[in-house]
Amino acid sequence: MTDAGLATEKLPADPAEVAPERDLMSKFDALIAERQALIDTGVTDPFAIVMERVTSPTEAVIAGRDTILLGTYNYMGMTFDPDVIAAGHAALDQFGSGTNGSRMLNGTFRDHIEVEDALRDFYGMTGAIVFSTGYMANLGMISTLAGKGEYVILDADSHASIYDGCKQGNAEIVRFRHNDVADLDKRLGRLPKEAGKLVILEGVYSMLGDIAPLAEMVAVAKKHGAMVLSDEAHSMGFFGPHGRGVYEDQGCDVDFVVGTFSKSVGTVGGFCVSNHPKFEAIRLACRPYIFTASLPPSVVATAAASIRKLMTADKKRAQLWDNARKLHGGLKALGFRLGTENPDSAIIAIILDDQEQAVTMWQALLDGGLYVNMARPPATPAGTFLLRCSLCAEHTPAQIDTVLAMFEASGRAVGVIG
Ligand code: PMP
Repeated sequence: MTDAGLATEKLPADPAEVAPERDLMSKFDALIAERQALIDTGVTDPFAIVMERVTSPTEAVIAGRDTILLGTYNYMGMTFDPDVIAAGHAALDQFGSGTNGSRMLNGTFRDHIEVEDALRDFYGMTGAIVFSTGYMANLGMISTLAGKGEYVILDADSHASIYDGCKQGNAEIVRFRHNDVADLDKRLGRLPKEAGKLVILEGVYSMLGDIAPLAEMVAVAKKHGAMVLSDEAHSMGFFGPHGRGVYEDQGCDVDFVVGTFSKSVGTVGGFCVSNHPKFEAIRLACRPYIFTASLPPSVVATAAASIRKLMTADKKRAQLWDNARKLHGGLKALGFRLGTENPDSAIIAIILDDQEQAVTMWQALLDGGLYVNMARPPATPAGTFLLRCSLCAEHTPAQIDTVLAMFEASGRAVGVIG
């Protein structure tokens, strides 16, 4: 082709033939308007909270104000543990700030091995694989375990990472009603007997803080020849004799346990542990494990130190349960409607009538120096509006008294309680 030919080709196209650009961002207009309407009411943008300083596992400065943290999932208060911090410092000094690569290539450092050893010891299992987050652990495990022609059977209230793991894979997806053993049984019974099946459960469901009847569900799954994966993100450290989770507390065996370092462990990362003899093969096939960089050395070093300490954290565990009982009992006595009848977990959800109540009360608490999570549909079950509290072993009884007084004052002001 000649230069003249090229020049002709580069001439601008006839405007009549150019399709108008479709703005792909326009689909977010409703979302933008909804957020703006919320901000226009004068409320603090709940998605723009900044922790200006964090002074302990239970206190931070937000908008210049000392604030009690009651919505962080820092259940065991490990974020400021001196041994955990020292392990992070040492790893930063010895190994630098990052790995620059996937676990499959240059991204496996000493402390990735250390943390997987710590997990094997903590769970008493033969296999442990660490992912970059808990979200990626679910994404990776679910999409890799269940393939074409196989089935994933999941609770309708499953965490987004479980749903996304289903989308990422090629298996058929079947949902059963939340925590409904009979519905699980019925749906498993309709599937082909010879097909591979993975039932996915969570020990604690984080929106309402309710726990799963895992023992019965695992028994039903086994009856139908299904394997079971339990996500124990919200139970690690304080359920069961070794703090392994709800599955341990209820004395059942599951094939795979998924967890996170972002809650009780106090850093970031995710994992799966298993006794399956072929478990290591996951590393060879799992895209969210292979095609992303591994966690920084300081993160895995802090996680390893924290997990080892959690193995003997009986006092903290007892303190956390005391705190959960005290807050649950206090809120119930004040007349709030709660997500669970009893303090079943370290999450306590207050159920409100509508968005206005939720926002007004959340703002009043924040202005008074208390941070809780606000949650609303579609993240919540049955269209509920929630203020969710999660306790820390490091909350003091005095802090919980303060929290209860704040809930009482704001609950009365907003008319939630009489
Ligand atoms: N599973 C459950 C049940 C969770 O609640 C969460 C996070 N809230 C995750 C997985 C994801 O964990 P991570 O924050 O480590 O991505």
